[in-house]
Amino acid sequence: ILQLYQPLRWLGTAYRQIVRAVTDLEKLMRLLANESAVRDVPGAPDLQCAQGEIEFRDVSFEYVAAAAATGDAAKSTSGVRHISFRLPPRGTLAIVGPSGAGKSTLLRLLFRLYDPQHGQILIDGQDVAQVRQESVRRAIGVVAQDTVLFNDTIRYNIAYSVDPEAVRMEDVEAAARAAHIHHFIASLPAGYDTLVGERGLRLSGGEKQRVAIARAILKNPVILALDEATAALDTATEKAIQANLREVCAGRTTVMVAHRLSTVVHADEILVLSEGGEIVERGTHQQLLAREHGRYKEMWAAQVQNMEKETRGEEKTVENGE
Ligand code: ATP
Repeated sequence: ILQLYQPLRWLGTAYRQIVRAVTDLEKLMRLLANESAVRDVPGAPDLQCAQGEIEFRDVSFEYVAAAAATGDAAKSTSGVRHISFRLPPRGTLAIVGPSGAGKSTLLRLLFRLYDPQHGQILIDGQDVAQVRQESVRRAIGVVAQDTVLFNDTIRYNIAYSVDPEAVRMEDVEAAARAAHIHHFIASLPAGYDTLVGERGLRLSGGEKQRVAIARAILKNPVILALDEATAALDTATEKAIQANLREVCAGRTTVMVAHRLSTVVHADEILVLSEGGEIVERGTHQQLLAREHGRYKEMWAAQVQNMEKETRGEEKTVENGE
């Protein structure tokens, strides 16, 4: 039996490794499928991104046309149309609008997951379609709603945005501290070596977002693309994460898909998208609120009403002594 034990143990380990590899491979395939939508022109130079100025010049993009170009089956005619804006270095742009309007699509275009069929996207004056896609992605930190955790250690997951092998442990830890997740990690029995992801420790929505923030901090990008979570976090976690994001955004050009009043108020410019992916209103929070019957004004009136309802609900609970 003892003679059998070692090989069996080895088989068990091998099995786990294969399962893990397959899960990661699936993710990789999905990523690669995405990448095929974009091709670098031969000899394309790297993006030189020191300032972080962003400009969209009459950008239009349709998923259908993108799918046709790569031979995929056409899925829908959704996309964005005639998007123009200019964001100075360290400025903040907020994108709001109904579900499916194309808000995340604008972030994907900036990150060059797709090239627009019409118009140009410029970073520090360089057309992102004319430079190496890898260099574009290096310049931009992404904090997305659906942070993908790899079946690996929490250390690997934070270091993933840079070179996980080359990064120093102190830097990973500093990023985790800045993202306010260090104490949580340190409290785990295996600390930074804790396995997370589908086959490891399952992290909560708030913890996953903090891992994403730590990733972005470690990457130290000139530009940040934020997709604010729609999923309900508890109020305290949400407030803490928003405060955290404000720290990370400081000194960087930020493009964010925003769902909450509190994040949008301070934006230098707000774009309001229609269902059809067009800009229907634009301006600062104050300017947009001053518009009679504006969409933005209506959206926020509804949100303020909701917030008041929630506050009244909380007060009631307190009165009842619950
Ligand atoms: P939400 O607020 O719900 O996240 P959104 O404004 O960010 O929505 P997008 O994710 O940008 O919307 O999607 C815009 C439209 O494009 C939607 O109708 C969506 O179904 C469609 N879409 C998104 N990704 C793809 C894709 N890979 N292929 C085809 N259509 C897509």
